[in-house]
Amino acid sequence: MKRRRGTVNMNAIDFSGRVAVVTGGASGIGRATAGMLAECGAKVVVADYSLLGENDEPFSELGIEQRVCDVRSERELRNLMDHAASLTGRIDILVNNAGVGMVKQINEVTEEDWNACFDTNVKAAFFGCKHAIRHMTSDARGGSIVNVSSNAGILPRAHDPVYSISKLALSGLTKSLALCHSKDRIRVNAVCPGPVGGTRMIESEIDMAESRDAAIQRLIAASPAAMAHGRMIDVDEIAQAVLYLVSDAAIMVTGTLIAIDGGKSLGVPPQ
Ligand code: NAD
Repeated sequence: MKRRRGTVNMNAIDFSGRVAVVTGGASGIGRATAGMLAECGAKVVVADYSLLGENDEPFSELGIEQRVCDVRSERELRNLMDHAASLTGRIDILVNNAGVGMVKQINEVTEEDWNACFDTNVKAAFFGCKHAIRHMTSDARGGSIVNVSSNAGILPRAHDPVYSISKLALSGLTKSLALCHSKDRIRVNAVCPGPVGGTRMIESEIDMAESRDAAIQRLIAASPAAMAHGRMIDVDEIAQAVLYLVSDAAIMVTGTLIAIDGGKSLGVPPQ
């Protein structure tokens, strides 16, 4: 898999013998994360409700297993975690990454919209944790969970209230479960990305705009560091933070939200 220059030295991290589950791993941040975990030696299971044929070759080269799973279903999540645990007898790493956007104002939001967003962004992470934790507590080694939240999970935004509320809830879920399961040596953290280029989520937002270039410039301008570098955030820049959080270097890090958003959640950027 191609990497941006200046990335972490993967040889320094060894996940061999560990099993990692990445939801929403068919594209974007999840795909990059799955690739990095596998390059560091983990046995990775990618779960997505929309698998892409283009991943077959690179995933098989890295020994990444792909499974169809709709994370909105507790039953499918339980089957996924039971399967992943059957590979070595336990689960070491879970990345709750599957997520959907919802750009609508309150008067336009239907109950179905609300459920679609909350079932994917919040309920799935909760039940993913529930069934992974069963397999992380099978011995005293514990495990590590990373939830992929958003800058909207730190500071809500005006254009997508339901998405913002769902990601704020995911941030709360992260802290709450971190508190509950430290005793089990299970760490629960979150990454909070800003606009990440090359993801299906951001591409669909750009596609809906009248001008592609103007939409990209608007996304960049919302994050001061992205503006300074003249580009959006890269999927590898999120994956590297996940790698750190699930590594033994972060053994005392739990309940943390790491913003990788170019400063978007700090406040109003300079005009
Ligand atoms: P993406 O659309 O490329 O990836 C999301 C993946 O989740 C897709 O492969 C999709 O098929 C999968 N998915 C969605 N619903 C699912 C379901 N019910 N069951 C199984 N799989 C499902 O976009 P991405 O940006 O890589 O998204 C990953 C995460 O990053 C999401 O949680 C998103 O909210 C978060 N995020 C993205 C950005 C960004 O700018 N792209 C910014 C902040 C946060």
